[in-house]
Amino acid sequence: MSTAESILSMEHLASLCKRRGFIFQSSEIYGGINGFWDYGPLGCELKRNIRDAWWQDMVRDREDVVGLDCSIIMHPRIWEASGHVGGFTDPMIDCRGCKKRFRADQLFEELGLKPAESTKVEEKFKVPEGTKCPACGSKELTEPRAFNLMFKTFVGPLQDESSVAYLRPETSQGIFAQFGNVLATSRQKVPFGIAQIGKAFRNEINPRNYTFRSREFEQMELEFFIKPGTDQEWHNYWVAERIKWYQSIGLPKESITQYVYDKAELAHYASACVDIMYAFPFGIQELEGIAARGNFDLSRHQEFSGKSMEYFNQETNEKFIPHVVEPSAGVDRIALALLCNAYHEEWIPKDGPAIPAEPGKQPPEGFEARTVMRFAPRVAPIKVAVFPLLKNKPELVDKSRALFNTLRRHWPCFYDQTGAIGRRYRRQDEIGTPFCVTVDFDTLQDNTVTLRERDSMKQIRIPIDQLETELLARMG
Ligand code: ATP
Repeated sequence: MSTAESILSMEHLASLCKRRGFIFQSSEIYGGINGFWDYGPLGCELKRNIRDAWWQDMVRDREDVVGLDCSIIMHPRIWEASGHVGGFTDPMIDCRGCKKRFRADQLFEELGLKPAESTKVEEKFKVPEGTKCPACGSKELTEPRAFNLMFKTFVGPLQDESSVAYLRPETSQGIFAQFGNVLATSRQKVPFGIAQIGKAFRNEINPRNYTFRSREFEQMELEFFIKPGTDQEWHNYWVAERIKWYQSIGLPKESITQYVYDKAELAHYASACVDIMYAFPFGIQELEGIAARGNFDLSRHQEFSGKSMEYFNQETNEKFIPHVVEPSAGVDRIALALLCNAYHEEWIPKDGPAIPAEPGKQPPEGFEARTVMRFAPRVAPIKVAVFPLLKNKPELVDKSRALFNTLRRHWPCFYDQTGAIGRRYRRQDEIGTPFCVTVDFDTLQDNTVTLRERDSMKQIRIPIDQLETELLARMG
């Protein structure tokens, strides 16, 4: 079943996310704040699993990548050197009628207008005379204006230009600024990478599509430093690696595509850029950008700080400013893609395989509806649920709790003794728990339990002493 068939709507998903504790609106009790989201008990486990999978595969499993954790607020010169103070802008257009603010490119798309061939924002996104605001219909749309996306703040008690600082709009600049220190302390040699996971902030003009475009989000970025001239081969390497990684966390091959930038779309310093795209229900959108950025960033920091960013290769006696390939991914967008991909509504007959539910309809006679989140075990918030068949039988409860306590040493587990066993299975299906283990009266006789798999709903009987090995094999 493809994503498009299985997803009934983003509203269904958002409602499940709220109901089951994946995602809440930030500051909801005060009416929320646009572009900010909180992750509930299951959502933060999901995000943690994404970060852990990335860190394991990009840092711990590799000898040529090391980690870094920089502060969010850094010296403001960093953002001058990176070009963000002068150029990190989105053109925006306001409606004087309803006061709504649009991102110029999105407004043009919505109105079916084609931007003019110009590098000047005012010319490129000039709205034709008489164009109506899509929100209120008035013809009072402003000229496009550049809007800096960085959040500004002040450091220390004085609030003037001398104390201005910014919340970082990306994590990568901290990596460039600490390149020298990491090189000196890590015993790495080019080619090698520095990886960082952390919060980034952008005052997006139009946050939308649920958590997809937020004002506070988390990035996972790798700066992979290479010898000049090897850019293309390393860029190809990282694109292929990163596509494999998305499959390793359960996104099907067919849902992932690449958007390859043509020469005209590239930043002047970049030699290649590929966006990894996922087919969200609201369109095919970027999960990660992988750019070959030349030595732009290190050169700029060398120029602005006066500190050398050169690398000296002792074996060949060569000195150069390394080039960089940057795979830059968003944790929140990956979490959203995993949620969209996992979400399925099904009708289950008494016997036989489930069929996809028809949107807005009740299941036919003899079928039962179930919502199931088909997370890959690697990212599932809870991996195993343990149930006693009956809650008022102390022998069953004691045995189940003992098993639960053993299993939770290895995996996030959940213990549930309330309601009919079928209801308990459904509750776990809805949060994507891949395995449920039930302790019943036979367990007390022969030390076996029922192991039930979420997607096939198949159950097997297995000795308790083989359970951990079996679960480990099935976790993938
Ligand atoms: P977009 O074109 O969607 O605004 P971008 O090209 O500006 O994204 P990058 O600057 O390349 O994004 O950032 C790298 C990654 O950080 C993106 O691929 C995305 O996963 C994540 N990201 C960027 N902006 C946001 C945002 N506003 N909300 C959530 N994630 C974001």
